[in-house]
Amino acid sequence: MVLQSQTVAEVDSCRFLLQGQAKNLADRLFGPNGPPLGTPFDQLERIALDVSAQLRKLLLDLLLARQADAMHRDLPDYLRRCPTCACDTTPEEPAVRSLHCHAASLEWLEPHRYCGRCRKAFFPQSKSLGIDVGHYSASLLDLITYAGANKLSFREASLDLDKLGGHRVHEKQVERLSKRIGLERLAERRQEVEHFATLTLTQRKDTTPAGVEPPGEDQVAVVMADAGMLQLRDVAVPSPKEKAGTQQTGTQEPGPQEENKTSGPVEALLQEEKEKEEDDDDDDDQDKPPSGRHWREDKVGLVLTMTSKVSATDPCPEIPDTFLDPERVAKIVRGLKKSAALQAEEQTAAAAADPAAQEAPAKITYDGPELAKRQVVASRQSWPVFGVMLACAAWMAGFAKAPRRAFVADGARAIWRVWQSRFSSYVPILDFIHAMSYVYAAAKAVAAVPAAGWKLYAEWIQWTWQGKVGLVIEQLQHWQSEHGQPEKGEGATTNRSVVAKSLGYLQNNQEKMKYAEYRQQGLPLVSSLVESMVKQISRRVKGTEKFWTDEGAEAILQLRADYLSDGEVMERFWQRRQTAATGQRSYRTHS
Ligand SMILES: [Zn+2]
Repeated sequence: MVLQSQTVAEVDSCRFLLQGQAKNLADRLFGPNGPPLGTPFDQLERIALDVSAQLRKLLLDLLLARQADAMHRDLPDYLRRCPTCACDTTPEEPAVRSLHCHAASLEWLEPHRYCGRCRKAFFPQSKSLGIDVGHYSASLLDLITYAGANKLSFREASLDLDKLGGHRVHEKQVERLSKRIGLERLAERRQEVEHFATLTLTQRKDTTPAGVEPPGEDQVAVVMADAGMLQLRDVAVPSPKEKAGTQQTGTQEPGPQEENKTSGPVEALLQEEKEKEEDDDDDDDQDKPPSGRHWREDKVGLVLTMTSKVSATDPCPEIPDTFLDPERVAKIVRGLKKSAALQAEEQTAAAAADPAAQEAPAKITYDGPELAKRQVVASRQSWPVFGVMLACAAWMAGFAKAPRRAFVADGARAIWRVWQSRFSSYVPILDFIHAMSYVYAAAKAVAAVPAAGWKLYAEWIQWTWQGKVGLVIEQLQHWQSEHGQPEKGEGATTNRSVVAKSLGYLQNNQEKMKYAEYRQQGLPLVSSLVESMVKQISRRVKGTEKFWTDEGAEAILQLRADYLSDGEVMERFWQRRQTAATGQRSYRTHS
């Protein structure tokens, strides 16, 4: 819960008063001898809850009405002035104000003023209270947004709010309010990223934001990235009625294109790198969009502070048994190779039914770094823009001054272009599980019989583990030169094709496979943390019956990422929001 800072001592001093009132109520409701025998507890509890609900409402209505009266009599100068232009405002008829909050639904007459210059209404009491002029308090908005961002659907959020919190909020309203708060968070993110983009290269590389403690000697700064999927609804052409409505209320809802457009400083930063667009058609770790025109990619990044030690030598030169267990290896590889289309078809429900499937691909016995703090970044923006967002988050976490840094991902080229342009000072690490799946496929293709294939795999994966993938590459080159390259149009599953593909993959990623060195440096070898984060985010946004607008998707991705981040991101957001309350209607708030 947010904003819990009222002084308990003051309430404590009313204890005798409350005791007296409780006794009066008990006498009045049930007489001095208490409730008659046979009265169910349920009934007593309901009465107690009713009493407290009414007391809460009476107390708050009274407090707000008294404050409003005092403001009518004497309004201090700083609450007379228009928050926009600072001119004096003129009094208007008090407005009937209703406010749903965590404690009760309230109604009172709120002082109402008007700025003739801005032609805007102004509500000084709302400003003073730190609430916006909508119908929901921060405490209730917090609950609604939490449910909207984290429950499987807005409908489920609405049901839970009612059942668990006693708050009746229609699912459409949950959707609207969650989106509104998500957009407010997006505006904040945009500001942060724009500020980051205006920093000089030296500032980005060598400085940390004021008050941020960079990771220490026993810590490693880790960035991971991966992609997920969600479905967009067709971009509908607004009906004439909707258009008219927009004009009447004067709202400035940006369209999806506008929302996704990058702004000046970020655009300038992207220009600097002058990327050449590569062809990613044969990029094996790039999820192919599933059939169906609605599926789109979303991006997930992690900015992690992890605890680990540097060792004098490789602390684990022998490959852990996990990677030499045929059943387990086969299962891990199957999990990776499942096509995006298949994954999309399979419902989250199916995944929920099989908890094992939701686990990280593998738990290796190498005691890699331990997670200390994580921040989640999620967006549907393009990879280059997402790269800037991720770099901004890393900078804000103080990573510029981290003694050790690593960037971990699968082989998707778009992600490694992000590393190239934004994280080139980080040690690049190819997820070991992905490396394993290619070694496994190649060994199976090269061997004449399955048993020989396993033996080959066992040898090769040990080399790979020890950072000697060059030896695997040599053997594959040798085999390929004996058996030839696949013909043009040859199927992808022939042995020659499989070997060619694995060989290319291992060659492309060779520089990111120095696993012995990474262990010695105490760096992570796998990207399972970001992969399971993609799943956690997909649980909310992905489903065959879930369709998002561009803007709605971006808003919910932001909120889900915020709630999955450490460091009370949303709590601090609500605090900022309270401080920034203007008592004026903003263009975007009209609930
Ligand atoms: Zn004004």
